[in-house]
Amino acid sequence: MSEPIRIALVGIGKIARDQHIPALAANPAYDLVACVTRHAPLPGVPAYPSIEALLAERHDVQAVSFCTPPQGRHAIARQALDAGKHVMLEKPPGASVTEIDDLIATATAQGVALYATWHTREAPAIEPARSWLADRRIERVTISWKEDVRRWHPGQAWIWEPGGLGVFDPGINALSAITAIHPHRIFLTAAALDYPANRGAPITARLSLADALATPIEATFDWLQTGDQIWEIAIEAEGSTVLLSGGGAKLAVDGTTLVDATDAEYPGLYRRFAELVATRSLDVDLAPFRLVADAFMLGSRRQVAAFED
Ligand code: NAP
Repeated sequence: MSEPIRIALVGIGKIARDQHIPALAANPAYDLVACVTRHAPLPGVPAYPSIEALLAERHDVQAVSFCTPPQGRHAIARQALDAGKHVMLEKPPGASVTEIDDLIATATAQGVALYATWHTREAPAIEPARSWLADRRIERVTISWKEDVRRWHPGQAWIWEPGGLGVFDPGINALSAITAIHPHRIFLTAAALDYPANRGAPITARLSLADALATPIEATFDWLQTGDQIWEIAIEAEGSTVLLSGGGAKLAVDGTTLVDATDAEYPGLYRRFAELVATRSLDVDLAPFRLVADAFMLGSRRQVAAFED
């Protein structure tokens, strides 16, 4: 086996701790040799206060995985690419679509890997759903992504600021799923966004989408869901109802369960990144991000009650 990829992790917050660090520890293709953190050093892993310090002092680092908020990620990812490092980005890949074009151009010029990850696409029911739908005529798609922001994003100020995406932070996961499993290209036709009076990002969003066959695709993203948390896509196709639920963990057709598996998203992401590093390739699909950008461009806006954590 070849030498492990010497990787650094930038931004030691919730997702780094919950998913990235365990996935790296379990994968012999990687050696986590450094991190960049302002407050949260990891035991046994040398910590640097900035990307500049990391790049100046650690020429041995080959790859950098970014788990910071999307705002400001472009500038630090660009520095890593300029230094010849392979780069992996948490979703959404940045704060604007056009700044990712710049990263694509830089990675291509440098001949290094660039991976814009969509963790939901690695969920166990996604590929079976894509395969089941591939040859079928789809009549209707209903997406419900409803969660309690107080439970999942407590105190995350960045998520409510422009570029933080608000309810599209989880909603973009649904869009990454539907763009992976729907057999035709999808586009946005209308959107309605609710902004709390004291916040710079929406708390609910309703999207109307379609494809070239005029298939109706309706999505509701809601951050005020209490009780059961819902991450579902229901698809009517040729007299059957396909239900992708649990954020892509489960697949049922007409009530019969075809897939019900535990989470394997981040191990899958790091397996894919290792392939991209080995071949110095890019995997950057901006389709989900463009749909969100279109929703901000086309969406009507309504002010709703102020939101406090
Ligand atoms: P988080 O808990 O707020 O952590 C982000 C970390 O980034 C912070 O702990 C901080 O780490 C660093 N950071 C650098 N600049 C920052 C700034 N201006 N404001 C806040 N933090 C800053 O966020 P997260 O939930 O891990 O999310 C990070 C990214 O992962 C987002 O793009 C998000 O969409 C994505 N993601 C999150 C989840 C989830 O369940 N939370 C799931 C999938 C994907 P240091 O203290 O080490 O500097």
